[in-house]
Amino acid sequence: MPTVATVRWTDRRAGGRADAPVAFDPADFQPGLATRLLVLQPTPFCNIRCDYCYLPDRDDKSRMAPAIARLAVRRLAEDGLLGDRLTVIWHAGEPLAMPLGFYDEAIAAIGEAAGAHCAVTHALQTNAMLIDDDWCRLFLRHGVRVGVSLDGPAFLHDAHRLSRRGHGTHARAMRGVERLRAHGIAFHAIAVVTAQALAHADAVADFFEALGATELGCNFDEAEGSHGESSVAGREDSHLAFLARLFERAVAGGGRLQVRERSQALRRLAGGMPPLRWRGIDYPDNAQVQPFAIVNVAWNGDFGSFSPELLGFTAPGHGSFTLGNLTQTGYLDSARGEPFERLWAAIRRGTEACRRTCRYFDFCGGGAPVNKLCENGDLASAETLYCRSMVQRPIELVLARAEAAAPGRLQRQA
Ligand code: SF4
Repeated sequence: MPTVATVRWTDRRAGGRADAPVAFDPADFQPGLATRLLVLQPTPFCNIRCDYCYLPDRDDKSRMAPAIARLAVRRLAEDGLLGDRLTVIWHAGEPLAMPLGFYDEAIAAIGEAAGAHCAVTHALQTNAMLIDDDWCRLFLRHGVRVGVSLDGPAFLHDAHRLSRRGHGTHARAMRGVERLRAHGIAFHAIAVVTAQALAHADAVADFFEALGATELGCNFDEAEGSHGESSVAGREDSHLAFLARLFERAVAGGGRLQVRERSQALRRLAGGMPPLRWRGIDYPDNAQVQPFAIVNVAWNGDFGSFSPELLGFTAPGHGSFTLGNLTQTGYLDSARGEPFERLWAAIRRGTEACRRTCRYFDFCGGGAPVNKLCENGDLASAETLYCRSMVQRPIELVLARAEAAAPGRLQRQA
């Protein structure tokens, strides 16, 4: 049975007033604004040097103090942005380059600041190189959800994920994965799909089926920050074929291989995205374009919102995307400043451009501002290679399968 029976594409003429200049007011949003994702960057430092990395400061060994982690959550509570659930992601550079004791302190401090009414879940994304038994015990102690960055079999992974001396890192990452397995810790995997991987979908599927990860996320090699060009650009037919084969394997594997992009597309097509109303205009609820749904905090308390990667970036016409520093100002106070107003206005113009021009808008909500900026040089623009790779192709593949499985049952309504 096809999962999708009817797909309605939005009337592109709807909405359209959201790009007028307005002051930010949390009371304009229904449901009320709440931060669902707090991305904490405990250190800019990374112990390896992937050749597609976008981080500008990966040699910087600065470290977050637990007091900054506490302040990051206390400020959310003071601003009324703390709901009954919060996910904290420790990310960028390599979170395990921090001392293990930092997390015991920081997680306790966050729990105190969040209080009993807010359930906090901790997650981290790691290159797995430093995972040992002590880290595994910490993950179990705090219920940390673990994601490992692996690009597939060694010949693909070692082509790009290099040590600081230029050697492959696959063997050491797999030793870390072995420790996770030995402790019975479930983990998901995120792979960066480069041009080189596109001809090897079956090798990638074989590897991740055997790995036992709960889910495989297939990021594609994005042009972002200090990594100015995507190797997938100009190879989009090959990327489509790669994804199609991976999705086939996911279906044929009976659950052994869960591909995040397929699951997301199925969810979006089956249920749409919940609406967020701002000043009487309904938007599909996309956290990356919604103020403070995602809050990003650097090691020193600098913070930003919207796409996490924006924190630390600068761009002509915008300057820095840092909105403030927690030791001096709160999140909502920063929204009264000119940098926030300029940033949010540009993101709203981009969302409106998406609404006018993109038939996938109901399943996306206006995409990823950081990719609009990095690919098109303009936050107010619409389609990107990221859109086509991460949103549009997965949806089209799921629809094509539904149509093939039950010809005539699927209706696309304009
Ligand atoms: S897929 Fe791209 S162009 Fe379409 S709504 Fe999303 S961000 Fe905008």
